[in-house]
Amino acid sequence: MTVLSIKGLSKVYGQGQNEVKALNHIELKVKKGEFVAIMGTSGSGKSTLLNMISGLDSFEEGEILLSGENIKDYSDYELTRLRREKVGFIFQFFHLIPVLSAIENVTLPAMFTSVNKGEVQKKAHDLLRLVGLGSFIHSKPNVLSGGQQQRIAIARALINEPELILADEPTGSLDSKTSKEMMNILQQFSSELRHTLILVTHDANVASYANRVVFMYDGKIADTLDLSNSGLDSQEKIRVIASKVEVLSL
Ligand code: ADP
Ligand code: MG
Repeated sequence: MTVLSIKGLSKVYGQGQNEVKALNHIELKVKKGEFVAIMGTSGSGKSTLLNMISGLDSFEEGEILLSGENIKDYSDYELTRLRREKVGFIFQFFHLIPVLSAIENVTLPAMFTSVNKGEVQKKAHDLLRLVGLGSFIHSKPNVLSGGQQQRIAIARALINEPELILADEPTGSLDSKTSKEMMNILQQFSSELRHTLILVTHDANVASYANRVVFMYDGKIADTLDLSNSGLDSQEKIRVIASKVEVLSL
């Protein structure tokens, strides 16, 4: 089943001399349970692409189908609903609410849905257990480590059972050991629980967990690397990705 289908997507910022083609005819299809990593230099359009997919900004040209819904002409109201129901976000700096406990942070996105409170509470508890925070559900973010805070953010991204999880540099502010723990959790969510994930990263180690790596350059998809059924072990994957980055001068 196709979760995301992007055809001929272009996005221009500014006008005249200030015009920047942030996205230039992007084609991308992502199936349920797939884990796609996006790499590319700063300014190559990675965040713009995620913003378009989640309807945070409009686009002039092309088509985005998110679980069958064509979002091009959606109103702000429809886009807000789509984001709430179908997309989970994970950010570089976690974006947790400091005055709320772990479980309150996780349940927050479900406050605006019709799911009943008890059910949401139970689901949040289950998710926090799944990410290894079962004994920290009442802790506030500031007493937890960066890795633990990002795990709360993962649980929060999943509370509304989204069709698609979007992560923009989710390991960008974590050390390498914590990044690995995070990636193991995300990979497990993708391979065992069939969550669909698009993750932006600069780090070949992080990208090596994906089924597919998409390399962006100047608003275009410059290359794609299929890692599923590649037969490569993780060290070999990291080497292949790093050499692509080198060749493409990303
Ligand atoms: P990346 O995430 O790969 O670093 P971005 O998607 O943030 O790149 O940016 C792609 C290009 O679009 C850059 O040249 C950037 O300056 C430009 N850009 C992004 N957002 C805006 C905006 N809101 N207004 C004007 N230009 C923007
Ligand atoms: Mg960015």
